[in-house]
Amino acid sequence: MARDTELSHLHPVVREKIQTLISRFASEELPFRLFEGFRTPDRQHELYAQGRTKAGNKVTNAKAWSSYHQYGVAGDFVLYIDGKWSWDDKGKRKQYWKRLHELAREVGLEPLSWETPHLQLQGISLAQLQAGQYPQGGDESWSENMHAHIIKWTKTATPPSPELSMGRPPINTTERPNDTSLSSATVSNRPRYQVTARNGLNMRGGPGTGFPVVATLRSNQLVDVMKTDGDWCQVDLEGDGLADGYCHSGYLAVIA
Ligand SMILES: [Zn+2]
Repeated sequence: MARDTELSHLHPVVREKIQTLISRFASEELPFRLFEGFRTPDRQHELYAQGRTKAGNKVTNAKAWSSYHQYGVAGDFVLYIDGKWSWDDKGKRKQYWKRLHELAREVGLEPLSWETPHLQLQGISLAQLQAGQYPQGGDESWSENMHAHIIKWTKTATPPSPELSMGRPPINTTERPNDTSLSSATVSNRPRYQVTARNGLNMRGGPGTGFPVVATLRSNQLVDVMKTDGDWCQVDLEGDGLADGYCHSGYLAVIA
């Protein structure tokens, strides 16, 4: 299971800190690179098994959903020298790791004494994350990715999906808005919804993050919802009764 170094899978708060950190590495000529950011629960599960039910040395004490990596609020940084990853902390390189931790604290990331490459968001507990009390300011790329892994995971309990933790009720297409003038204004006579994602909302070719993005809808844009498929809504942009694509229901609010 591959490592994920995709910055868009990190919570925006941590993404920004990590970007600052990366620019500090450049200006101080520190040879660190992001080794791993978001980590799937499956990969965490595999890593936990290592040295326990599987061969190898123990590499983690955290089970699935018990590492900050599963919430996109941690990053591991490792030295990258002469085209190779290096965990070497001897001699001159010891100073590199010390500086990594100093800079991390400056931007609000907490290092762990027992796991030198690991930096995580400070001021939030694992219990809070597991209860779905996520940091403010989550965006679509972070929450869609997390949500996709939450719904796929069946081995143990999962944390709540980010959009559900924001207290938005699930969308019900059989419920019509009270204002009949709204529905009569559209050809399709379907309930209208508004995009509530601050930075716009991806519309995809199918009901899932595995489908390609076909368009990005504007914040506050109005759409008709033709039907729902799990957490996804099939939308009609022009009100002509023809489907244009799918959007995640967590970022659509019915206009009442
Ligand atoms: Zn880590």
